[in-house]
Amino acid sequence: GLSIGIVGLPNVGKSTLFNALTKNQVLAANYPFATIEPNIGVVPLPDPRLNALADLYNSARIVPATVTFVDIAGIVKGASKGEGLGNKFLSAIKECDAICQVVRVFDDPDVIHVDGAVSPSSDIETINTELILADLQTIENRLVKLEKEAKKNPELKPVLEAAVRAFETLNGGKTLYSAEQEHAISLELLKELHLLTAKPFIYVFNVDESSLTDKDATRDLAEMVKPAKCITLSAQFEAELASLDPVDAKELLSEYGLEESGLEQLARVGFETLGLQTFLTSGTKETRAWTIKKGSTAPQAAGTIHSDFERGFIKAEVVSYADLVELGSVAAVRSAGKARVEGKEYVMQDGDVVEFRFNV
Ligand code: GDP
Repeated sequence: GLSIGIVGLPNVGKSTLFNALTKNQVLAANYPFATIEPNIGVVPLPDPRLNALADLYNSARIVPATVTFVDIAGIVKGASKGEGLGNKFLSAIKECDAICQVVRVFDDPDVIHVDGAVSPSSDIETINTELILADLQTIENRLVKLEKEAKKNPELKPVLEAAVRAFETLNGGKTLYSAEQEHAISLELLKELHLLTAKPFIYVFNVDESSLTDKDATRDLAEMVKPAKCITLSAQFEAELASLDPVDAKELLSEYGLEESGLEQLARVGFETLGLQTFLTSGTKETRAWTIKKGSTAPQAAGTIHSDFERGFIKAEVVSYADLVELGSVAAVRSAGKARVEGKEYVMQDGDVVEFRFNV
């Protein structure tokens, strides 16, 4: 499944945030595996449509889409040269679909900062530099061979050129992801190198509880990390929220004028960053959100439920969530002529409530 690696310097609040992730009570029941792996946390994608659908269909349970977070410890200054745990973290990051960097913004004299003072922008630079150095090594190793190979095989020339451009970008201190977002580089040809800084980046600014609703506290940082996305939360506050039952947690959030917890925001931004969307299925057994890439066709969507569904796909019976809630039942949607039968070419739309027909 989809996973996001959490990185950051020591003492920035990673463990605190991660404890909140794994304590998430709503999930404990549905995802028992989440407690087996100590460095893995699962967060539900908030989706109020699921509750409305479950009411309509009298569903016995709700299964939300989820985002998996992996705690990746060990990046310190010099890590790519063997400091701290050295570059053990690299293989763990390689497996992730995106990188989430936790940045300390909170000020607390009792919590020591590894470099002596709280400076979010230099922390971001420190971590990015380690990732950039790791990528430079990867490309350097590959370039030696590529240059020889491209002389014999002209088809490799574009790959060589892409690698040289990526090398220059990194040498200039830029991550490949931000360069690609700014259309300054294309990474399509370098996929096999699994470059770390080519992965989508999300920044988590860990602020004091008292700055949670103060947009000014992180405005400059948000500007600095563009075009990467960022969210602002307090890891300590998240830990507190995670220990409450959902009703009390909502109440505490609203006392701060917030609608979503930081973890929920993180799941949502993770989804957006990775270009994902959901489709919905509903029945008496369960109402469920399924994760697909934006632009997926109906058979591909069916394949996320079961690979047999994709192979034996016949058609999809689709009603839109909006119609369903407005008209009150599938029967009413049908008689209004708004139920659709879609074939193999159909591109799934956000809010599609689907029943697949297939051969086995
Ligand atoms: P890690 O090394 O990045 O995993 O950092 P920890 O999660 O262990 O946090 C380091 C210290 O900072 C702990 O004493 C936390 O209680 C404290 N801390 C974490 N988040 C916050 C926060 O939002 N505000 C304050 N004041 N302290 C925090």
